Amino acid sequence: MTDLPKGWNRVRRVVCPGSFDPVTNGHLDIIGRAAGLYDEVIVAVLINKTKQTLFTVDERVEILGEVTARYGNVRVERFHGLLVEFCEANGISAVVKGLRAVSDFEYEMQMAQMNYRMAKVETLFMTTNPLYSFLSSSLIKDVARYGGDVSGLVPDPVIERLRARLAQS
Ligand code: ADP
Repeated sequence: MTDLPKGWNRVRRVVCPGSFDPVTNGHLDIIGRAAGLYDEVIVAVLINKTKQTLFTVDERVEILGEVTARYGNVRVERFHGLLVEFCEANGISAVVKGLRAVSDFEYEMQMAQMNYRMAKVETLFMTTNPLYSFLSSSLIKDVARYGGDVSGLVPDPVIERLRARLAQS
């Protein structure tokens, strides 16, 4: 490992990437645990112009900012294109991902190996909290759309915004 100038500290900065459309308690659990392990966590919201989302990037960033405000070392950013380029530009050496089930594994492993191959960016997997292992943003949207109760599965600011957004459609 290269030596740093005297008096400097190496910052262990990681990224939690995703669409977060909307953020769920499963995402928040991973972000919070990462914040306990690393110096800095950047939550990176994917700008995907080809994918239809319920919430705009600005809205997703705003909600994430609100629900992660209690962590002093979590910052919310947006990115598009290759995650490894975002990592290189921001001095991030590792991606933190939650693994819900075996079904997540194959795709995540492929992506992790590609990211390492491209830029030596490591991927660290955390097993999901069993309370939230069945949760995904798309399932939350489906349940809420048909009037199901999603309290306890997403943070309160999301419940209010889901209600308002779905009332418009
Ligand atoms: P994507 O659009 O890439 O699927 P998501 O916003 O749905 O992104 O999720 C981002 C990441 O958050 C996932 O890749 C996964 O690592 C993690 N994640 C999603 N849902 C959960 C959950 N219920 N528990 C733990 N981790 C989760």
